[in-house]
Amino acid sequence: MLLLRNARYLSRDLLEGFLRPGDAAVDATAGNGHDTLALCQAVGPAGRVFAFDIQQDALDATRALLAENHVLDGRVRLILDSHANLERHVDRPVRCVLFNLGWLPTGDHRLTTRTPSTLAAVGAALRLLAPGGALSVCCYPGHEEGARELAALRDFAAGLDIRQFNALEARFANQREDSPKLFLIQRAP
Ligand code: SAM
Repeated sequence: MLLLRNARYLSRDLLEGFLRPGDAAVDATAGNGHDTLALCQAVGPAGRVFAFDIQQDALDATRALLAENHVLDGRVRLILDSHANLERHVDRPVRCVLFNLGWLPTGDHRLTTRTPSTLAAVGAALRLLAPGGALSVCCYPGHEEGARELAALRDFAAGLDIRQFNALEARFANQREDSPKLFLIQRAP
């Protein structure tokens, strides 16, 4: 169900509704596994979810959450690698890719996503999208690196060929200027 809470939940709600059983999807930042769980439930047992993180602790937390919710099965692959290397691991076109940038809330804040790898990963994700597939990026300009990521993503999205992609930037009009921002990019069908 769509509930307007914040950029983070909006991306998950929209992509959950967009996915169909049997689809392939990517969680580019697994973290504590909440988004991976939502993707696994949306694609069902016949689907496939590739979940990335650079921290073993994050993948362990994700694995535990998936097990608790009875979706830790053949539909999901947990990958300890940077999302900049998406194309080394994802072996098929996907219907959606979700990025929730920043750091693990319960972890070391220095292990945050960084502009160069974020841009490389978003570029790779766009190449992996199936026709009609969509990507979301939630970014957090309230901290220094997040502000750099937002500026870089704005430039990147503005430069996309409109014949191939439609790119939307969403902000909540009644939230602070530095509140999380959401990019949604859809490949032409
Ligand atoms: N989606 C998660 C959830 O539902 O709990 C939250 C993600 S958390 C805000 C951001 C995560 O991105 C952290 O776990 C961090 O380790 C991870 N990360 C940072 N740089 C990364 C990279 N280059 N590739 C993949 N993951 C990365």
